[in-house]
Amino acid sequence: MKYSQLLTKTQKTTKEFDSVNATLLTKAGFVDQTMAGVYTFLPLGLRVLTKIENIVRKHMDEIGAELLMPSLAPRWNWETTGRLETVDVLFKAVGANKNSQAKNDAEYILNCTHEDLITPIAQKFRTSYKDFPVAVYQIQTKFRNEARPKSGIMRGREFRMKDLYSFHTSQEDFQKYYDAAKAVYTATFAALGLGKDTYMTLASGGDFTKDFSHEFQTRCEAGEDIVFYDEVTNTYYNREVAPSKAPQVTQDSEQKPMEEVYGENITGMDALVKFLNVPADKCVKTIIYQADDQVIAVAVRGTYEVNEDKVKKIVGCSKLSLATPEVVKQATGAIIGYAGLVNLAANVRIIADEALEEMVNFECGGNKDHIHIINVNWGRDLPKPAAFYDVKVAQPGDLNPQSGKVMEYFKAAEVGNIFPLQSRFPEAFKYRFVDEQGKEQPILMGSYGIGTSRVMGVMVEKFHDEKGIIWPKQVAPFTVHLISLRGGEEQATALYQSLQDKNIEVLWDERDISPGSKFADADLIGCPVRLVVSAKTNGQVEWKERAAEKAELLSEAEVFERINQL
Ligand code: ATP
Ligand code: MG
Repeated sequence: MKYSQLLTKTQKTTKEFDSVNATLLTKAGFVDQTMAGVYTFLPLGLRVLTKIENIVRKHMDEIGAELLMPSLAPRWNWETTGRLETVDVLFKAVGANKNSQAKNDAEYILNCTHEDLITPIAQKFRTSYKDFPVAVYQIQTKFRNEARPKSGIMRGREFRMKDLYSFHTSQEDFQKYYDAAKAVYTATFAALGLGKDTYMTLASGGDFTKDFSHEFQTRCEAGEDIVFYDEVTNTYYNREVAPSKAPQVTQDSEQKPMEEVYGENITGMDALVKFLNVPADKCVKTIIYQADDQVIAVAVRGTYEVNEDKVKKIVGCSKLSLATPEVVKQATGAIIGYAGLVNLAANVRIIADEALEEMVNFECGGNKDHIHIINVNWGRDLPKPAAFYDVKVAQPGDLNPQSGKVMEYFKAAEVGNIFPLQSRFPEAFKYRFVDEQGKEQPILMGSYGIGTSRVMGVMVEKFHDEKGIIWPKQVAPFTVHLISLRGGEEQATALYQSLQDKNIEVLWDERDISPGSKFADADLIGCPVRLVVSAKTNGQVEWKERAAEKAELLSEAEVFERINQL
């Protein structure tokens, strides 16, 4: 393609966006922001996105058949799964004006994922045990009402996703497929050039399963996740499920008398610390939960947050939610905000974090309105629990519970996610299979996502220098960026033709602008090879790879040889 055929020009603007990918992709003319979280993929950008999606497609074809589901859905699908009310990123679409509504006033849902769509589709075709397993996928535009679109194309309100869904008649069959999907995902990220820095990471199974789900996390400063590495088991954990042991805090050597302190409307740990003049790591945060039909009090050190995923696993409950004000009142005798560990109602089970075990003279809520207690001690003021647990959200600096060493952690972007969904969606649609005995049995399901537009953003975050993007060759918009300068026009015309004849993708900057601008544009756009022909190259071609320091003069035959070797 000739440069002048591209819609875009590179922009000299000094405007910096909130991330490297937004800045470079905009300046180089790959994307254009329509509004927060919504982008046009311009000609250059679409070429890259398409290549990423084709690499993903090639790998997914090994484990599923491609289809394309609609972006619009009737409310019915989402009502049937109960998710119309619960998915907090769901958008709806309605006629925008009276004339439109006069024709059709229905409300539609803009799908943010497609479990709710694919399940009733599969139900139409696959019901006998002989029909399983089966898996399908699509690469499609998703809509999500994200609170904060950010980091350029890494978190959009409209974005591209590959989503695959599988259906199974047994746990064994599901597991076999799930393991195969893990391997295909690993190969996909390797093929995309992200293999070295992408880690399969254990994450929460959410409301669907007590098991972990698996995220594919790429090490990246602009990512929103924190991944902890457990060197004992060689396992990566999303912070939301990472095991943790709190570093020790020096404790008083002698117990002080327990004391009640009156303090109204002190909300939050910071205010409490100021008011009581007690450091946060000597305070205990107690939260009252409803765990199925049990009431529990979960306690962590003041510097930590409760990890509900861990609590659920320890208690073995299927539903965990903050207790209502009435339940808090029954459990503690106080209004919300004063829960503590001393004198809780007898039916309330205490789940205390391991960091509390060694604490001496600690603070906690007084279980009376507006009362805080300081200098609380296990054994003296309340019975020491028989067991302590890890129920906190891990923090940088925390220790590995097995080795006692500080855990390594890094920032990462979730580029993919595979999820055991159990029977949640099939059951919502009363979708069951008929077994060999003619009996109806539950269907198990999995879902498997890759954020293809996020992958593109992550690539720019990882592969760039101060001059611009350095695309991995398999996704670069063009292999060759051909620059013709004064006196090289004729040679460039012929070279452009022979490159195309050999199916080598080439962008020819044939504009009549300064050499410096052409070189800067080539660096910004980031194709793997820059070729220059001019009066000076004298029938030969200047060859420079994007990441290389130096250029070399080659014959055209050598140029083609080198390209083949790339
Ligand atoms: P996140 O935790 O980042 O919000 P998620 O868990 O909601 O992601 P999934 O529903 O599993 O994401 O979606 C599958 C994949 O789609 C993710 O792994 C991610 O790569 C991508 N993705 C999710 N949300 C966005 C978004 N708002 N913009 C771009 N890509 C996204
Ligand atoms: Mg996720």
